[in-house]
Amino acid sequence: MKKHIPLKKFSQNFLIDSNIIKKIVQFIKPDSSQVLVEIGPGLAALTNPVCNLVDELNIIEIDKNLLEKLKKHSFYSKLVVFCQDALTFNYLTLFNKKNKLIRIFGNLPYNISTSLILYLFQKINIIQDMNFMLQKEVAERLVALPGTKLYGRLSIISQYYCNIKILLHNISPKCFRPVPKVDSTFLRLTPYTDNSPYFTHNVQVLSYITNLAFQKRRKTLRNSLGKIFSEQSLTKLNINPRLRPENVSILQYCQLSNYIVENYQKYTLY
Ligand code: SAM
Repeated sequence: MKKHIPLKKFSQNFLIDSNIIKKIVQFIKPDSSQVLVEIGPGLAALTNPVCNLVDELNIIEIDKNLLEKLKKHSFYSKLVVFCQDALTFNYLTLFNKKNKLIRIFGNLPYNISTSLILYLFQKINIIQDMNFMLQKEVAERLVALPGTKLYGRLSIISQYYCNIKILLHNISPKCFRPVPKVDSTFLRLTPYTDNSPYFTHNVQVLSYITNLAFQKRRKTLRNSLGKIFSEQSLTKLNINPRLRPENVSILQYCQLSNYIVENYQKYTLY
């Protein structure tokens, strides 16, 4: 069979470091009782060792040529193959098959990783966990805390939905072929169920407010959110109107969004 030429448009940087691969599979800890879904199996760096541990693995791969290559492997019979775009895939079908929360993993195509994570948050109720290899900078934004440069809308929305744990950090570009220009991080996002530290009436309002606040990162809340919140109402919520958006905690953003829902239900904001 012809050698595969990696496609840039699909962010094809294949994992080749056996030590990293082994650690990732150990972290995922797959077992046959789980509904497992791999995004972008590529040349099977993770698919193969995971199949050694389970009876069935769902895979979503956009590149038909890569799927053809998988056919020659003995583990192919264990795969349930979806030749589709992970960004539009209907994950509910996998949950419905066994009425079981799904576990998603993958060395993600870095060009779509943020959009994909945001898309998956919309299906959060059917997900047990997500174990992803990401570009280091994206991972750092996901876990960033208030008061830091990387803290922003992505951190707030992600930490609102999930507990996030970095499992392997600073993974060298040398662990991939072709060699990417960036370092990588492997992490786990575990959706909160009834143990969430945060509450909002409406996550779309939370998303709207954080968008508005971080559009003007250097401005104070008094300026950026001035159209919706008077200084008085911010003070009433115990939030200093002179704070910059990066110094406002997730809990405070939730408070702000709840205030809108409770007081301005008549207005369409989004
Ligand atoms: N898992 C393999 C590994 O670790 O070597 C490949 C990882 S590579 C970074 C990303 C994989 O995702 C490629 O196989 C690529 O074809 C696939 N891919 C890219 N965009 C995709 C999309 N929108 N939906 C599904 N798969 C996609």
